[in-house]
Amino acid sequence: MPFLSGTSRMPLRGTDNPQIFEPRGMVCSMIHTTGNLLEINLSEQTTDTRDIGSIQERFIGGRGVATRVAHETIAFDVDPLGPSNNLIFTTGPLQTSNMSFTGRMNCTAVSPLTNGLVSSNAGGFMSRHFASTGYGAVQLVGAAADLCIVHVTDSDVRFEPVPHLADATVPETCAYIDETHGLGSEHVACIGPAGERKVRFASIMTSASRAFGRGGLGAVMGAKRIKAITFDGSSAPGVELADVTVDVHREAATSDHIMKEQGTTSVTELANEVEALPTHYFSEQSFGRVEGISGDRVAEKKYKKGTCSACAFACKLPTRDEESGIETEGPEYETVMAFGSNCGVDDIVEVMRSNELCDRYGLDTISCGNTVAAYLAAEDDFGDTDLITDLIEKIAYREGVGDSLAEGIARIHEGLGVDNWTVKGLDFAAHDGRALHGQGLAYATANRGADHMYSTFYAWEYPLVDSSESFDREGTSGKPAAIVAQENARALEDCGVICRFSRGTMSPSRFEELFDAPYEVLMDVGAAVVHLERHFNNQRGFDRSDDRLPYQLPDFEASLDAYYRERGWAADGVAPAPRSLG
Ligand code: SF4
Repeated sequence: MPFLSGTSRMPLRGTDNPQIFEPRGMVCSMIHTTGNLLEINLSEQTTDTRDIGSIQERFIGGRGVATRVAHETIAFDVDPLGPSNNLIFTTGPLQTSNMSFTGRMNCTAVSPLTNGLVSSNAGGFMSRHFASTGYGAVQLVGAAADLCIVHVTDSDVRFEPVPHLADATVPETCAYIDETHGLGSEHVACIGPAGERKVRFASIMTSASRAFGRGGLGAVMGAKRIKAITFDGSSAPGVELADVTVDVHREAATSDHIMKEQGTTSVTELANEVEALPTHYFSEQSFGRVEGISGDRVAEKKYKKGTCSACAFACKLPTRDEESGIETEGPEYETVMAFGSNCGVDDIVEVMRSNELCDRYGLDTISCGNTVAAYLAAEDDFGDTDLITDLIEKIAYREGVGDSLAEGIARIHEGLGVDNWTVKGLDFAAHDGRALHGQGLAYATANRGADHMYSTFYAWEYPLVDSSESFDREGTSGKPAAIVAQENARALEDCGVICRFSRGTMSPSRFEELFDAPYEVLMDVGAAVVHLERHFNNQRGFDRSDDRLPYQLPDFEASLDAYYRERGWAADGVAPAPRSLG
């Protein structure tokens, strides 16, 4: 795994048969974000703006625009925790609308956990305030000399030194900004002590309890000495959207989907039943005491509806335990796995406690839970909830053993004497690939690492979708083309910044209507994003040897070959240089 960056750009490899890579989006006008790129130089405390219209026309917004900007502005050999790693915030063209499933934001940088380019997506309420600044993208470059907050409005950018907020938790930081600037947490993206200490899986928190969680972007922000960034204004661009937004919103409001009660935890028992629930640090695939952490238990603790901006689907989980006084947002299914079954914990209140601590300190619940589980495996102490609480705090402040655990499983597993349950350094999500073989292959191919949201292929294997479209869980052959299509579709969602849970509502024809372009053109946009990510990571040394799993799957190598062929990549997993980047 290429953890260590070099000092010069690496040459392209495996491009003897380069495929011409030219998305059809070039010749088709789509609905896309508008507004300049605002570049904030933290070292110099200066700003600059740049017209990125041609990029927005090609890549719509969100992850696509951020990936394209990153590909151009971040050196391939950058140190993820150095000042030259840029942190790029983007929304899509729908974040000024009233359509459900659009309360989300994108953030992109080179990950200190995986060492590759990572885009992370957070819900909550910040997307509207970001859009109200009128910028299409905001990029943080360099590093501040002292801890500070950056305030972005439609008329200026201000730098506020905040040495007194050193080690402040996420709630403390949000309270300070609210009291001193009158900006609620929905205006704020911030880090906790974990980000300041560059814990490799630190998150950036927004709206107090929503996380840009995967890949350690909180550590990137901490390395830049930025405690928080706020967005405020009244210059949101007017975007004319098709009437389909009204239909989507109505369906979200009237849906009786179980996620509206249980969120993602509605899948917990099904996953357990088909042995897709990692347990006891991945040594088992189902948890005998799953009732204690099931969706029903979470729903019992839910005390009000929870949602993101404009979303009538409202699948979020504000939970409270009256007896202990613990109040949090979640846990989602992935956290139920990481701090529940994988740590041998069968009490949902204890999982809520871990969830709340991670949100408070700014830690990704999946990576943190799995790292804690690795330690429990090493110590043969599963289910020790006092120890779990202690470890979370030690990781957040890098105290004692927490300093080592803060480096992440891939870097410390040998010292602990446990297996490396990561792909490309990113800890596994739930939806175990040993039971859902297509999802397993997708964990291996994802540029981001072992992340379920990159393809959501698990949904086609449980099945959670129409049975006519579903796949048998067994085997990988016959699935690569579908995995490519799903990865592209997810990337398209991330360009439009549409929530994953719109999948029952957003059909291809609705995408066409919404973005005013043929679906194959839109899917080309998704493919272009995956290709750019791969190309960037290839320059950092990633290749086929990184598309690996810690377990065997049937026909894995042949399916990997088929996947690369479908993508137009070489057999060593290297993508040809894109001919035109727009
Ligand atoms: S479906 Fe759920 S996660 Fe997605 S935008 Fe709506 S409330 Fe947020």
